[in-house]
Amino acid sequence: MSYLVGMGDTAGLENPFPAPRWNVPIFDGHLDLAWNALGYGRDQTLPLAEIRMREMPTTSENGRGAAAGLARGRDSGPASTPGTTPAPAPAPGIGPGTATVCLPELRRAGVAMVHATIFQRTGNRKGPREMLLRADPDFASPALTHAAACGQLAYYQLLERRGEVVCLNSAPAVAEHWRQWQAGAADLVGIILLMECADAISDVEELDWWRRRGLCGLSLSHVQRSTYAAGNDCPESDGGLTDAGRQLLVRMAELGLALDLSHLSDRSFEEAEDRFEGWVYASHCNCRRLVPGPRQLTDRQIGRIGARGGVVGVVLCNFMLSTSEAKPPARDLISLRHVAEHIDHICQVTGSIEHVGVGSDLDGGFGREHVPREVESIAGLRLLPEWLNKRGFTDRDIRRILGENWVSFWIRCLEGPGELTSPGGDDISNQAD
Ligand SMILES: [Zn+2]
Repeated sequence: MSYLVGMGDTAGLENPFPAPRWNVPIFDGHLDLAWNALGYGRDQTLPLAEIRMREMPTTSENGRGAAAGLARGRDSGPASTPGTTPAPAPAPGIGPGTATVCLPELRRAGVAMVHATIFQRTGNRKGPREMLLRADPDFASPALTHAAACGQLAYYQLLERRGEVVCLNSAPAVAEHWRQWQAGAADLVGIILLMECADAISDVEELDWWRRRGLCGLSLSHVQRSTYAAGNDCPESDGGLTDAGRQLLVRMAELGLALDLSHLSDRSFEEAEDRFEGWVYASHCNCRRLVPGPRQLTDRQIGRIGARGGVVGVVLCNFMLSTSEAKPPARDLISLRHVAEHIDHICQVTGSIEHVGVGSDLDGGFGREHVPREVESIAGLRLLPEWLNKRGFTDRDIRRILGENWVSFWIRCLEGPGELTSPGGDDISNQAD
């Protein structure tokens, strides 16, 4: 039995954890904190219990009522209103679901550092009426996508000014932050800014602007075709990188930005990995050998990331953990044991313990309903060591997987030519360029 069984009942309370030998800092490789804040109105500084309570009136329908409630927001009116066109109900399994992440919960869970994303896309997949509901990440033009992404950047900068997080974008800052957490001398969550889908970079020259504001890594696409590359939902015939994508990779390497290979189509992955000369990683990906599908990485892709010194962050989304026929897979069928299996597989493929970490993606468009059964909140990561231990991982291995691999990666990466001198980046409000 786990030492934290029943933890869900204590979500939002003060530290309920005993002091196990695995009580070490955690690094989560993928959290969409700002998207949840600006898209779903989830103030990340509130306790998790309060965020859930605020969403209670609309969370009664199969765990996805919050999305349904948003989709029937004030602009579209109730479905029965004569003369209005109701917004369609969200597809099964899509939507925010029950919240599992916020800053107090991260601190309670001992999550010392995260990759905090800026996530917006360019596209016209929805009509203007639906796009009034800003929970979706799509905007009609690169300029609008850029502006929306700046809102997410501004949110992280405000959180830092208010002492809620600390932005880390230099090797010494990352090393010192981690050392303080290890010593029990810090409780602020450190964030490394990543962009998920590069659409918010409205042209290649703009990449310098983002770099100066602390952006450390980015992925070229989300699931569909972006300005820069075909994503994992694109057919192979849809091509790989665009010319802009190839140019962006050159400038990324010059500026010292790392490349997140998550979400690329196989063809895009091959070309990007082949062309890019800087550091590569996958912030949130699982193993295709265990769960078929283009969203997961092949063994060859995992091997390439490992060979280049990168890290793959394993995702806690049940869709990506199980081959269950049921879609979505029943929560009761999926355990952190499945997460440990993906971690183990990455170690087998790379022949090393050094190229795997956590990239939970919790609240990344799904909620508690679609994560392993033991996980009531982000603090459920504390249960992972027990499963890893059962698979034979040593305490030293577990420390690496929970955080040290990501920390080592960024220390190496940020020591490069693109190291910034201004922790936290420049404030967007006083830029003259
Ligand atoms: Zn993603």
